[in-house]
Amino acid sequence: MTNVAFSGIRKLWIGYGAVAAALTVARILVPEGSTAAALVTYGYPLLTVAAIAVGVRVNRPPRTLPWILLLIMTVAGGAGNVAISVYLYSGGVPFPSAADIFFLACYPLLLAGLMLLVDGLSWRRDRAGVLDTLMVAGALGLGVWMLFLRPLVGPAMPLGDRLITMAYPLADLLLLAGVIRMFTAASRRGPAFWQLVASLAVQGLAHVGWVWQSWHGTNDNELAPAFVLSALLLGGAALHPSMATVGGADHRPPEGITPARVLLISSACLLSPVLLIADGLIRGDTADWLAASVCSIAVFLLLIVRILGLVRTVQNQATQLESLAYLDALTGIPNRRAWDAELDRRLAAAQRSGGTLVVGLIDLDHFKRYNDRLGHPAGDELLRTASSAWQEQLRAGDLIARYGGEEFGLIMHCRLKDAAVILERLMESTPDGQTFSAGLAQWAGEESPEQLTARADGALYTAKRGGRNQFSVAGHPAYTDQHTDFLTDASPIGR
Ligand code: GH3
Ligand code: MG
Ligand code: MG
Repeated sequence: MTNVAFSGIRKLWIGYGAVAAALTVARILVPEGSTAAALVTYGYPLLTVAAIAVGVRVNRPPRTLPWILLLIMTVAGGAGNVAISVYLYSGGVPFPSAADIFFLACYPLLLAGLMLLVDGLSWRRDRAGVLDTLMVAGALGLGVWMLFLRPLVGPAMPLGDRLITMAYPLADLLLLAGVIRMFTAASRRGPAFWQLVASLAVQGLAHVGWVWQSWHGTNDNELAPAFVLSALLLGGAALHPSMATVGGADHRPPEGITPARVLLISSACLLSPVLLIADGLIRGDTADWLAASVCSIAVFLLLIVRILGLVRTVQNQATQLESLAYLDALTGIPNRRAWDAELDRRLAAAQRSGGTLVVGLIDLDHFKRYNDRLGHPAGDELLRTASSAWQEQLRAGDLIARYGGEEFGLIMHCRLKDAAVILERLMESTPDGQTFSAGLAQWAGEESPEQLTARADGALYTAKRGGRNQFSVAGHPAYTDQHTDFLTDASPIGR
């Protein structure tokens, strides 16, 4: 969006806010049944619809479907208002009525819009968030059952009426789950997000107030301004430029757990027993132990699934870390740590099985000059291409590792003669005309990894001294008393 368009929509949003506030206040002040009240009642859904339509056009969210669903919901709510007026005009509002169909239709539309907005139903993208939401909603569901639904089960009301009466608190519970999901979804929260949440909060509180009024038989229209405000806040969310990023991915780890999340989950787990105690204290022997236990078990099972997810994540990360710890960052081949561990392990295996093993040490010739001539990044690139070219020449089971700077170590499970052939191949495959020198030492049995490597190193030194671009083979340790004498034993093999 250009800056001009951005400041334009911002001004529009502020203007809209002023009108919305005026309409809400007007709904409080104008006398019930007056023409002014009717104008506000019919006007606010239209204003919200206009705000959503303009918001979608100007702010260009990545997905328009969620906003279209919210728009249709606003229309359905407005149609419900019209139906109520028609009933009032012709004597009184029956229950249930056509208005209930419109009002109840708002819930699935609202919920679908919200979930599409924050990708709330995506188990694969965010199973932790889905599980946390189910736990909290399940626990709160028990409260809704005890407070609102259970009292409706008994009375001698026709089944249809009773279902519609029960549909409202159930739908509100689903909506509450939707709001919790908005918070557990790993998505960004800007002003549009908070306006949406405020809209839902105002609506939810109005519904609670409405139930409270029904209990006390004072069902006049005191709550109407809350519904006006809620709808207008929704329009405000759509008009605000940040609406385009509601639901945009945040960079939180999907299975991660924060202190706030721990608090949320533990509250969910504790709510069922707490409600059971409260119910027991209030109702004595008729306390609802069955509902509380079922809910508790369900939340607990969800918790176990959640913990399994966490454990799996930690295990995967541990595996990844371990493999990273044994790889060289530049070339991606095993590093010195892996080399040391592998040499120990393979020598022990050779000792048991009596196999042969040759260690080779490779050192690039005049690599400092290569760096000086072509630059350090080119040197890095050569280390990468050379190590992968060499790796391709090795047989499965043999190992190449980056031993240090421009030095590489080889473990080959073969005799010296074959190792020499392999080394010839490596020399030929080295890219960019680069050469190396190398030292080979065949394991002499009973020899420690350090002694074996020292002999190969001695042979490498001999190859360097002999003019580079060659390898030499260390003599058998039995012919010498001290490691330094290996150097004299080594015989260079030129190219
Ligand atoms: P020689 O033939 O005697 O082995 O000569 P050399 O220049 O290869 O040996 P020297 O030990 O004097 O220098 C090694 C050079 O390897 C020094 C350094 O610039 C280069 N080097 C070591 N590690 C890296 C690396 O990770 N990347 C790059 N680009 N160069 C490295
Ligand atoms: Mg070196
Ligand atoms: Mg070198």
